[in-house]
Amino acid sequence: LTSSQTSPGLHVVHIAAEMAPVAKVGGLGDVVAGLGKALQKKGHLVEIILPKYDCMQYDHVPDLMAVDVVLESYFDGRLFKNKVWVGTVEGLPVYFIEPLHPDKFFWRGQFYGERDDFKRFSFFSRAALELLLQSGKKPDIIHCHDWQTAFVAPLYWDLYAPKGLNSGRICFTCHNFEYQGTARASELASCGLDVHQLNRPDRMQDNSAHDRINAVKGAIVFSNIVTTVSPTYAQEVRTAEGGHGLHSTLNFHSKKFVGILNGIDADAWNPATDAYLKVQYSANDRQGKAENKEALRRNLGLSSADVKRPLVGCITRLVPQKGVHLIRHAIYRTLELGGQFVLLGSSPVHHIQREFEGIASHFANHDHIRLILKYDDSLSHTIYAASDMFIIPSIFEPCGLTQMIAMRYGSIPIARKTGGLNDSVFDVDDDTVPLQFRNGYSFLTPDEQGLNGAMERAFNLYMNNPDSWQQLVQKVMNIDFSWDTSASQYEELYSKSLARARSAART
Ligand code: ADP
Repeated sequence: LTSSQTSPGLHVVHIAAEMAPVAKVGGLGDVVAGLGKALQKKGHLVEIILPKYDCMQYDHVPDLMAVDVVLESYFDGRLFKNKVWVGTVEGLPVYFIEPLHPDKFFWRGQFYGERDDFKRFSFFSRAALELLLQSGKKPDIIHCHDWQTAFVAPLYWDLYAPKGLNSGRICFTCHNFEYQGTARASELASCGLDVHQLNRPDRMQDNSAHDRINAVKGAIVFSNIVTTVSPTYAQEVRTAEGGHGLHSTLNFHSKKFVGILNGIDADAWNPATDAYLKVQYSANDRQGKAENKEALRRNLGLSSADVKRPLVGCITRLVPQKGVHLIRHAIYRTLELGGQFVLLGSSPVHHIQREFEGIASHFANHDHIRLILKYDDSLSHTIYAASDMFIIPSIFEPCGLTQMIAMRYGSIPIARKTGGLNDSVFDVDDDTVPLQFRNGYSFLTPDEQGLNGAMERAFNLYMNNPDSWQQLVQKVMNIDFSWDTSASQYEELYSKSLARARSAART
């Protein structure tokens, strides 16, 4: 391992459980790649550390190779060897850690959902810091994400700063406060943290179960910068209703807590260059969009009899957060309103997956409804391109990327006013919002009436005022949802935090 080259910008290392497109479950993967690339473009040295999963998309790391060192890291009272791999993903240098632990932590055929997730990811967090220490890297910022790498924050200050890895600041981004990584307090000891010191109300003790520790709480307490993925969500999680038990901790640490709206990867999601599409198109030349709609209909066996029939898309994890009952309702309502509906989604929750399998088979040969219950990246691109409208009726939504991707592909969002949806979708009929920002349809109350109202208004414009609809499509395609602005905000947070640390060190 070599230490990092000198760079005029900052040296930022992301430690994460996902990165698109090699290892992606949801938005976290998109953010790590998108933010990483945007910061790199601004002249910073960005590196990523990921677990080496057996189920990664290896074809996205053509130059993957093993590094000729053995990395030993502590766990459960002894040292375990790790094989370290390096490769380039989307132009970013990525280190992959393969623990040579008998439990084969990342050889499970899936990214998450294993009984020992807490163990797997606390092991990985420690091994990632060990990699930084042993390679002599001195990053300015170590940026960890979600509960899986939240352990990095207490590990850094308790164990690694004293060992000399003390050049930097820790930034923690929580992409969804629903997932906090809690476990029996004793389990924290495996990665070398001091349970006695940390199982305290002002440190890592869970706010509701006092015999448990909470990894996300630990990262909030021990990081220098804490962010979440939209300004509205940052407000919501500071309330008792929205905070998933962490609102008091977030309020206590509010000075270092901020919401920054995610961007989307404008290269990966670009209808003008998207190789998955039948025909590429752009805001000023939208003919290709109609051809993609026709191609998807043919591909999925939907009726093409009526060219004008609007196509409503929905691409999502089917979990309660996403408003699954409203998604189901939208399928039937679309049919009543004279549209077609395509859902691409899969669910880790068995009863939800079964329920949607039932709906899918009910509509198996239907002219206007198709449910595809799997994860399929290439199909997702073709659905964004083909759809006229896009449904996101979330109960809560930290940021949400699908509304932004949909707009980039000229699909008008119909979204619940919550979290990042509230920061990116502005109702065309909302007089309190300046006209130039209005870009879709939104509703506040998460029930069928709320959704119906927004859908009916969208269908009405689409069917009765095609010129206005086309203007709206052109307008949303021109909105800049790239990472540029958000990456600048991270850049500023990083720099300010470093400046504070350096001036404190001088005094
Ligand atoms: P979350 O992170 O909560 O899943 P986001 O809206 O932030 O939701 O990000 C979802 C990302 O995952 C988007 O890029 C979306 O296109 C993608 N996605 C979700 N479900 C699927 C699926 N079944 N197949 C392909 N891509 C999907």
